[in-house]
Amino acid sequence: MRLSPAVRLSEYFMPTLKENPSEAEIASHRLMLRAGMVRQASAGIYSWLPMGFRVLKKIEQIVREEQDAAGANEVMMPTIQSADLWRKSGRYDDYGKEMLRITDRHDREMLYGPTNEELITDIFRDGARSYKDVPQMLYHIQWKFRDEVRPRFGVMRGREFYMKDGYSFDLTVEDGIKSYNKMFASYLRTYARMGLKVIPMRADTGPIGGENSHEFIILADTGESEVFCHSDFLGLDPLAEKTDYKADLQPIVDKWTAMYAATEEMHDQARFESEVPEDKRISARGIEVGHIFFFGDKYSAPLGAVVQTSDDKQVPVQMGSYGIGVSRLVGAIIEACHDENGIIWPEAVAPFKVGLINLRTGDDACDKACEDIFAKLQVMGVEVMYDDRSERAGVKFANMDLIGLPWQLVVGPKGLANGVVELKNRKSGEKQELPLDKALELVA
Ligand code: ATP
Ligand code: MG
Ligand code: MG
Ligand code: MG
Repeated sequence: MRLSPAVRLSEYFMPTLKENPSEAEIASHRLMLRAGMVRQASAGIYSWLPMGFRVLKKIEQIVREEQDAAGANEVMMPTIQSADLWRKSGRYDDYGKEMLRITDRHDREMLYGPTNEELITDIFRDGARSYKDVPQMLYHIQWKFRDEVRPRFGVMRGREFYMKDGYSFDLTVEDGIKSYNKMFASYLRTYARMGLKVIPMRADTGPIGGENSHEFIILADTGESEVFCHSDFLGLDPLAEKTDYKADLQPIVDKWTAMYAATEEMHDQARFESEVPEDKRISARGIEVGHIFFFGDKYSAPLGAVVQTSDDKQVPVQMGSYGIGVSRLVGAIIEACHDENGIIWPEAVAPFKVGLINLRTGDDACDKACEDIFAKLQVMGVEVMYDDRSERAGVKFANMDLIGLPWQLVVGPKGLANGVVELKNRKSGEKQELPLDKALELVA
């Protein structure tokens, strides 16, 4: 039998802070430091402590499952790349100071990858020969480095950050759009599973032009982008309908792009006013949590990633790239889900589902009941954090509210004498006194 992950706070490493750290300007940064999820190693570079790491891994796993469902194959590319490849695409000089450049002992120029278009194109070129090798989608989830001018807001704008980047390879533009649509649809599902309302917004495609770039944005006052959209987006639920990746996905993309939504760079005030009734106009701040882009042969042509067509021609493959800010999402989810007392994790990404609070550690009846519940929850497959420390009740309550587990199960001597425990829902704040069996049923 496999037991669910379970920890005792007395044995856990969760260095919480009572005071607000002065360097944190926004709620998510403040709360991640206060809850002991991360620790800054140097500017924009973080260590992930046990609880933060659990959340990061949960988000990563949702991303992975939805990439796999859409038909993408997972690979793992290195963090360090050779400068030569980037010279071929012409980006080595263009990328500027955001790229961290490294020289090895043989004086070879290397770099810490800020993204992987060049490397994946090189891999594909080497492994693919003909039209039979496409369509193909490859992705990896790996640390990136960008020497941001102003790293800030904790993990939201780090220098080292964790990203899912995926790439599609097709024979024709038409097929390339099909791959783009698959990723578009899978992104809608990915963020919805994390409990987020995400809006795909038309994004700048740069010199290539065309319609096919979207940023996936969540609305938040602390977001760094200025965005404009129709409020009906907030009522749409991507999980309400099944996504069949074998079918034509254009209707899904059409539905999600029919209403006005644009970031500042793409915003057209006249169009906004003519297309969206005044009471439905949202003009707000947003956080970019993903970005997809169809760019044709921009990298395949210079890097020679060609395949043979069925009538013996050699053509460069049509490519797209698809990014998700996995570590940024940890902060973004907190921005969307918190109150004055702390974090309120959506269940799918919560580090643990239940926080078990022993109101009187050292009291035989309380200890015994808690040990029993702790063991039962593990057998039931419910992830649990047990506060078994000998702290005051007030300290334990405040701590559980701060770290934001979806359910708090409170066991005290008075309740036990009456055969009940207290169950609190962190999101609604609702508390109920229940017999233990009933409480366990509700958190199962
Ligand atoms: P931004 O506009 O915020 O600088 P970007 O457009 O430069 O992001 P992309 O190249 O589109 O970023 O990368 C894909 C995703 O990686 C972004 O949508 C974002 O979620 C995430 N990301 C980019 N830069 C950072 C960073 N410095 N820290 C954390 N996540 C980042
Ligand atoms: Mg950037
Ligand atoms: Mg951007
Ligand atoms: Mg972007």
